[in-house]
Amino acid sequence: MSLNHSQLGKRLAHIERELAEINKALKSLKPKRALGFVAAIPPASVCKDALSHLVGTARGYEGVLATLAAYYQIPTMGLYHNPKRVQEAERVLGLKQMVAAAYFWQEGCAYTKETTVDRHTVLHEFFHHLVAQGVVIVKGEDAELRANEFANTILQRADL
Ligand SMILES: [Zn+2]
Repeated sequence: MSLNHSQLGKRLAHIERELAEINKALKSLKPKRALGFVAAIPPASVCKDALSHLVGTARGYEGVLATLAAYYQIPTMGLYHNPKRVQEAERVLGLKQMVAAAYFWQEGCAYTKETTVDRHTVLHEFFHHLVAQGVVIVKGEDAELRANEFANTILQRADL
């Protein structure tokens, strides 16, 4: 791979931004204290490690979720295939758009509509788990956007 000056400069700037973000996150990581959104995103090493445990269907996410939960020092999130619970959430929340999964705060777990579920959906639900566990503070109306941003950033950092 050969890069010209401009491409190298851009990559360096990108890496420096990443590093600053990671260092900021590391500094502000104190167990049992709520984090802001940026600080809550794990460093690339944790993202890569977590996703390396992925096996396949909902059950296959156990390792991914356990790795992330260990990083945040919280109980892991349950993830089960149960379309009825997802439909229940759609009804209760009055969702116009059908969803692939739903997180239940009281139970500390997420249910999926299909037996297979994509990585983004699982990481999105895990973000709700972080909020429910008091690890990260997010304004109510930002929750869905932040959950998507969290999932995207972890996948990016894991190089997926
Ligand atoms: Zn959500």
